[in-house]
Amino acid sequence: MMYDVNRVREDFPILSREIYGRPLVYLDNGATTQKPRQVVEAMVDEYYNVNANVHRGVHFLSQQATDLHEASRETVRRFINARSTSEILFTRGTTESINLLAFSFGEAMVKEGDEVVVSAMEHHSNIVPWQMMCERKGAQLRVIPITDEGELQLEALEGLLHERTRIVCCTQVSNVLGTVNPVKEVVRRAHERNIPVLIDGAQSVPHMKVDVQDLDCDFFAFSGHKVYGPTGVGVLYGKEEWLEKLPPYQGGGEMIKNVSFEKTTYNELPYKFEAGTPDYVATHALATALDYVSGLGMENIEAHEQELTRYALERMQQIEGMHIFGDAKERDAVISFQVGDIHHLDMGTLLDRLGIAVRTGHHCAEPLMRRLGIEGTVRASFGLYNTKAEVDALVEGIERIRRMF
Ligand code: PMP
Repeated sequence: MMYDVNRVREDFPILSREIYGRPLVYLDNGATTQKPRQVVEAMVDEYYNVNANVHRGVHFLSQQATDLHEASRETVRRFINARSTSEILFTRGTTESINLLAFSFGEAMVKEGDEVVVSAMEHHSNIVPWQMMCERKGAQLRVIPITDEGELQLEALEGLLHERTRIVCCTQVSNVLGTVNPVKEVVRRAHERNIPVLIDGAQSVPHMKVDVQDLDCDFFAFSGHKVYGPTGVGVLYGKEEWLEKLPPYQGGGEMIKNVSFEKTTYNELPYKFEAGTPDYVATHALATALDYVSGLGMENIEAHEQELTRYALERMQQIEGMHIFGDAKERDAVISFQVGDIHHLDMGTLLDRLGIAVRTGHHCAEPLMRRLGIEGTVRASFGLYNTKAEVDALVEGIERIRRMF
């Protein structure tokens, strides 16, 4: 099938907006993606025609809302190829998924003197929850270093794994450098020592086919809003044998079997981890988004974005004073850069005046910024609807700003 990006763009009303009288060039997809009509319409339709609280109702609408919600779980399961829907927990997003895991895993598995391994290129969301848990438990955070090219130092990982290591937490794709990490190899090495692995999939799920059984990771987290779905919903995948062992994260409705003032027993998976009314409209819309990208074909999306990234790198490298951070052999649709000594904030602000939306700053990866010896970068990140013409607009914009300075 030919991937027709102009056809695809028609599904995204926001892309025809003008910003300061210029066509919007949206290159902030790493932060959040725009929503296709299909996703927004699924939400409107559910609120207009179905809305009722899930699970607890005998009435028709409650049944229908529950069916949509649970069908969405099956869609997520299929999308990441989990074994069972018991392994799919709905959360508010990657951050909540990791907080849930850090809390529950910490309670059950971590003792004083134990260690948790993260990588030097993690987002704060995959650092701080582990740090908080380590502080509570008297455990230590250890860090897999990276090379100057922005790749994991796998040999160093070997040295970090030992009998006190409880879990390894690593992003599949860096939200700053675009590095695609060899997470399957990380899992293999950790599993040789019976250590479980969490993969942060926030930046991989939108761009490539993910198969959690093939990766063999024990936990996997991602956000709906970065994969063309709504805000406020995300997923934590966990192998059933792990989730069975971990205690609940929050208490309340739906996560219980029986409650008395003496003792509460907990619901079965996945509900044990889902206290309170879930955002059932968002879960349905997330499933709609996953069906949408599946319909386009993840391999087509990946090929399109890889081509776009290659083209952007090639053109950007020709700009005088251009410094691109990260030069991993395998990389994704994220490009962090600085031009000469132009401050990233100035660059971002001036690009915005040209209708070009990029992100500036530390990208919630302050330890990585410190490793790179910088305070921030400008980041352009591509999505399935971006075009070469938009890359050209970015390059011309950067050139124009460079000449101003
Ligand atoms: N991990 C990575 C790699 C990310 O890029 C992000 C979002 N910037 C997050 C975690 C956090 O995602 P969310 O804010 O949707 O919870």
